[in-house]
This record gives sequence, C-alpha cells and structure tokens, in this order.
Amino acid sequence: MAAVRLKSVTKKFGETVVVDDVTLDIEDREFLVLVGPSGCGKSTTLRMIAGLETMSGGDIFIGDRRVNDLGPKDRDIAMVFQNYALYPHMNVYDNMAFGLKMRKVPKPEIDQRVNEAAEILGLGPLLKRKPKEMSGGQRQRAALGRAIVRHPAVFLMDEPLSNLDAKLRVQTRSEIVKLHKRVATTMIYVTHDQVEAMTMGHRIVVMKDGIVQQVAPPQEVYDRPANQFVAGFIGSPTMSFLSCSLVAENGALYARGPSFSVRIPDERRATLGTANVQNATLGVRPEDILLHADDAGSIAAVVDVVEPLGSEQVLYFTCDGERVTARASAEATVASGDAIALGINPKRMHLFDGTTGAAYF
Ligand code: ADP
Ligand code: MG
Repeated sequence: MAAVRLKSVTKKFGETVVVDDVTLDIEDREFLVLVGPSGCGKSTTLRMIAGLETMSGGDIFIGDRRVNDLGPKDRDIAMVFQNYALYPHMNVYDNMAFGLKMRKVPKPEIDQRVNEAAEILGLGPLLKRKPKEMSGGQRQRAALGRAIVRHPAVFLMDEPLSNLDAKLRVQTRSEIVKLHKRVATTMIYVTHDQVEAMTMGHRIVVMKDGIVQQVAPPQEVYDRPANQFVAGFIGSPTMSFLSCSLVAENGALYARGPSFSVRIPDERRATLGTANVQNATLGVRPEDILLHADDAGSIAAVVDVVEPLGSEQVLYFTCDGERVTARASAEATVASGDAIALGINPKRMHLFDGTTGAAYF
C-alpha cells in the first residue's frame, strides 16, 4: 500500500520528448488507468515508475520515498506485462514461488502466499500444470499470481489483457477489478482500450503525444471532456464533430454551419464570454442525437449506413461533408439515402475551440 506521486516527469529519447512534464498524484489503493493511443508514452511512464527506464527529468515518489535512484527491486512494485513470460519448464506453483525463493522467503510463508494467491485467482486446481497445458487466460492469471505473491505496495500493469480474445478479455477485466478490491493495493493500469479505461479505473489519465490531456473519474471524462481529442477518444461509437460558428440572434446564441443550427443553452453562454467565435466545433455523442428537429436544433443530414445491432441501431449520416453518428432504437425505420432533420439534446452538447480544441464548457 502506497501513494505514488509523479512530479514533472519527463523522458526524452535523443531529442524526442516522449513523456512531457507529467505530474500525477495517485492515491493509496487507487485504481488509476493510463489510456491513450499507441505511442503516446504510456508504457514509458509506467516503466519509469517501475525503475526499468531512466528519467530525463522530474521526481517519482512511492509512499514517502523518492525512488529516482532506486532500482526496480527496491521499489516495492510488481509489474505485469502484455507478454507475461512464465518459465515454461516450471509448473504454476513454482512459477509463482520462484521470485520469493530468490528472495529467500521461508518455505512455509511461500506456501501460504502462493495458496492465498491461487485462491484469489481460482488457480488452485491448476497449480501443478505447466504453462503449455493451460489456456491463454489461465496463463495470464498465473502471471497475475506471480505478481500478487510478492505483496507489493504498487501493482503496475501494462496492457495485460491485450493477448486475450475478446470474450476472455471482458471476463478477465472484471476479475482484475475484483482482485484490486481483494488486495487493496495501489494499481496503475495501462491500456489503449477506452472501454477498459471506462470500466476499470477510479480515475482515468488520458494521454496524447506524451502530454496528459485530462485526469478525472471515467464518467466525468465522458460527460465533460477537456478537449476535442479526449472527446473523440473516449466513447464508442465516437462523438460527432461539426465545424461551426457562433451566431447571436434575437437574444439567443446558436452554433451554426451551412446545414445546421443548434441553440446553445442560455446557462452555458456565460463560459463563452462575449466572443464572436467564427471557428468552433460542435460535438454530439451518438445517444444525444434525436431523429427529429426541434426549437433547440436542426441538423440536415443524409443517412449513409444503417447498422442494426439487434438491441439498437447505429446510424451514420453525412452533414456538411462530415460524419454524424447516432444511436437509435431497433424499431426506428430509417434507410440509407433518407434525408432527415436531426435534433440534439441541448444539455449534452459540447463545444470546442476550433483552433486549440479546448472545450468551452
Ligand atoms: P505507448 O505505450 O503509449 O504505446 P511508449 O511509451 O511505448 O508508448 O512509447 C512512446 C514513444 O517513445 C513512441 O513514439 C516510441 O516509439 C518511443 N520509444 C519507446 N521506447 C523507445 C526507445 N527505447 N528508443 C527510442 N524511442 C522509444
Ligand atoms: Mg505500450
């Protein structure tokens, strides 16, 4: 158990900055997820926390200790990677016990810790199996077990589910969440998968190009993305974006493009100031689009593709040359080629600066 603190942590490879001035306060026992597209610096950040990568600048604290100069073995962490390398000639028990034996932990204690981890992970019946006699999911659980037996202060996980098939990934996802509750340890979990981020973490850190874009609980990231990048990255199907300008008319303010006009709720105008914004971006999530226009909004769009999913339909429209994605009930009768005036839920509209991408509200 320990809090983890990153202060202005930076990593350069040659002249390229891949982690740029990252400051994070991770609470004791928190489940924090680092998420972002491939290459954004997630693994490098995690590896610096683990001590597997040197830092170019900044400080890392685990508990009250500044660990900059400590090797991985002395940081009281355990790390699980995507490519969990179990020793092929050892059975599960020995794989889990190996690190403890190396540390000269007494045998009865090793036995107790391995059995406890096996119980938590449901590995009891598999302890005598060799890795090649197990499925991918079972092997991944064994790799988790090897980390658990060490009773680390902090768990670091780098895309541990990426090698599992879709069904097993969903199942193991919830197992890791349960595991976290059981062991009550600080967990820092890296993934490129926004669904994992949304479902697993107390808080999400969204990264892009080595820079932290937003740190917040999942629902807050979803409801109030800090910028257009975060808005587009979190949520599936993705948020739709329409270039617009802001136009005042008869005391109301509208986001307008050639084929649409959406009224901005009065209570949200305050954050826009008096700026006459010519270059903004309207953002709407698929579930906030209505299949009928009203006073609050009218978006003239043409249906491109209808994707029936059984429980609902995903509709892909074109408006002003941009794609608009909507969710609709399974009963909605919509066909490709239909021209429809759409509306939106005004309370849930997003508006971004067209140049910087920063959210206005
Ligand atoms: P992520 O885990 O988010 O996919 P990484 O942290 O692995 O990203 O990598 C971040 C960036 O640093 C990438 O552009 C990657 O190519 C680069 N990088 C990673 N390791 C090295 C290295 N040893 N030498 C040079 N560049 C590296
Ligand atoms: Mg990575």
